[in-house]
Amino acid sequence: MLENRSNCLFCGAVLSGRSDKKYCDDNCRNNHHYQLKKDDNTFIKSVNAILMKNREILKSLSANTKTLVMKKELVAANFNFDVMTSVYNTRKGLEYKVLYDYAYRIVGEHEVLILKYC
Ligand SMILES: [Zn+2]
Repeated sequence: MLENRSNCLFCGAVLSGRSDKKYCDDNCRNNHHYQLKKDDNTFIKSVNAILMKNREILKSLSANTKTLVMKKELVAANFNFDVMTSVYNTRKGLEYKVLYDYAYRIVGEHEVLILKYC
């Protein structure tokens, strides 16, 4: 009798029997789904943590609704320039990176303009 041999997606054990079988049993299936969900949550949590930290940095540097700061101040606070909630382009072609209720724009080489929506 011809058998399809593949491996359990969770524990790697060799499976036999039905060709559409992916796991040894329900335990392995549940564990695998739990593992995938956990990895997923870990990634989302790490992105959220960066977003919140970035916002806190903008908040701490903002004195007003419009504040011009030195870029190195953000760098010193470990601001992550790659993570934002959205990007906004003005009609004049200026690009603002948005972090919740704050937005910023790189001005020249050394400065950053921070805006607070309120
Ligand atoms: Zn298994």
